[in-house]
Amino acid sequence: MKHMLSLTAHELMKLYARSELTPFELFELQLAFARKIEPRINSFLSLRSVVDEEVGKVPYKNADNLLSSVPVSVKDILATKDFTTTAGSKILEGYLPPYDATVVSILKETNNFIVGKTNLDEFAMGSSTENSGYYPTLNPWDTTRVPGGSSGGGASSVAALQAFVGLGTDTGGSVRQPASFCGVFGFRPTYGMLSRFGLIAYASSLDQVGIFTRDVLDIAYAMNTLSKPDPLDATCIATGDIDFVCFIEGNTNTEGLRLGVISGLMNEQVIDAEVLELCEESLRILAGAGVEIVSVELPFIDYLLPCYYILTSAEASSNLARYDGIRYGLGVDEAPRRNLKEQYYEVRGVGFGQEVKRRILLGTYVLSAGYAEKYYNQARQLRKIIVDSIDEIFGEVDFLFAPTSPTPAFKLGEKLDDPVKMWASDVCVVLANLANIPSISVPGWLNKEALPVGIQFMGRRGEDARLLAFARAYEVSASLRFRVPPMVEEALNNFEY
Ligand code: GLN
Repeated sequence: MKHMLSLTAHELMKLYARSELTPFELFELQLAFARKIEPRINSFLSLRSVVDEEVGKVPYKNADNLLSSVPVSVKDILATKDFTTTAGSKILEGYLPPYDATVVSILKETNNFIVGKTNLDEFAMGSSTENSGYYPTLNPWDTTRVPGGSSGGGASSVAALQAFVGLGTDTGGSVRQPASFCGVFGFRPTYGMLSRFGLIAYASSLDQVGIFTRDVLDIAYAMNTLSKPDPLDATCIATGDIDFVCFIEGNTNTEGLRLGVISGLMNEQVIDAEVLELCEESLRILAGAGVEIVSVELPFIDYLLPCYYILTSAEASSNLARYDGIRYGLGVDEAPRRNLKEQYYEVRGVGFGQEVKRRILLGTYVLSAGYAEKYYNQARQLRKIIVDSIDEIFGEVDFLFAPTSPTPAFKLGEKLDDPVKMWASDVCVVLANLANIPSISVPGWLNKEALPVGIQFMGRRGEDARLLAFARAYEVSASLRFRVPPMVEEALNNFEY
């Protein structure tokens, strides 16, 4: 029975439908294994200790292509009533929100089982999960390496058989890059396709909930479940009337589709030689499936990172002003109240980590009088140019292609002291956020050191279902199958249950 933990969610739901297993049995097994392996990787900031009978005993509902009775992990930046929600920050230590994020409410309504809240870089700022205010998460493929970030705990939980599906957030690659490092699928939908209500804001114009799974079909099930209109989020554009699963199953032909390879992101100076080789291999498979491969030049490629980091830091400096030690988390219960200014200094000084402070300072600077013209406004103009040129390019091609990350998972500590190096690891992913297009990281092969390497497809804005259908067709042509990291496989084999 324990090997069921490495199935995909849709395979699991088939077992329920055939009455070979009850959700309660599976949840108990899931939790026991998640807890057993947790000390070796630290995917979670809070992990449930028992399966609540009320949640567990609900029978499986064979609903229309929805995710149901599936163990799901949720990034600790999404508000949950029954788990503390910290955004990975000490400033929110112990904070218990009075409400659930919309995506969390939907998961509960559809009887999915929330295993726990996953670790992240503080306020989703980082690319390795080492900026967590609590502890780093380790990569289940090699525990001397990072799982990527900021949603590193989400990716590692799905790879390490602690949850079948994970919810993360992707402001600048935080779902796709860790997916690539951990050998799972990571999807960043078009902005607004999933509600942001209850997602603690980092850079609101770019923040988007994303999904980790073990195959493309599971993303479609998760989108069917979660992509619903939400009156609580004015930026939500979901209509709820697309059946992603049916769409994918009905659109398997890739013959004659045009794929634009972003040449500036296939450059040896930026991208590891082995990653490039694996990309070439994927392109050969696609060409074999009738896809026409063309090269695409983006004149603004060198400005993607500066544009992204200026805009996100500016938005973060404003969004994070609310953590003043008066309304949330740290410092709130301190009596008697001290001088207000002192309280701000102390709470924000102790509560925020170094990277968050760096972004607040940078963001305040680029927004300040005299500098806003030079930095923030320029970055906004550039973003408009990026959006327009990507739209134009999509007149010529159906999808875009790039590696997900310039390198496979790097070593813990390798980039921690050099923020610019850490930021540079986002070079392939921020385009989709700035241009606001859907994007998916698909696991490729393992490199010579047996580390996973992902590739990335991007689609037209709002055509999320079409992008998923294309990724599914690639998955089938390349005969991809979810691979369990050796350390996890061994732990499962030795697991007495
Ligand atoms: N590395 C990016 C950053 O630090 C990732 C952000 C994200 O997607 N949450 O801003």
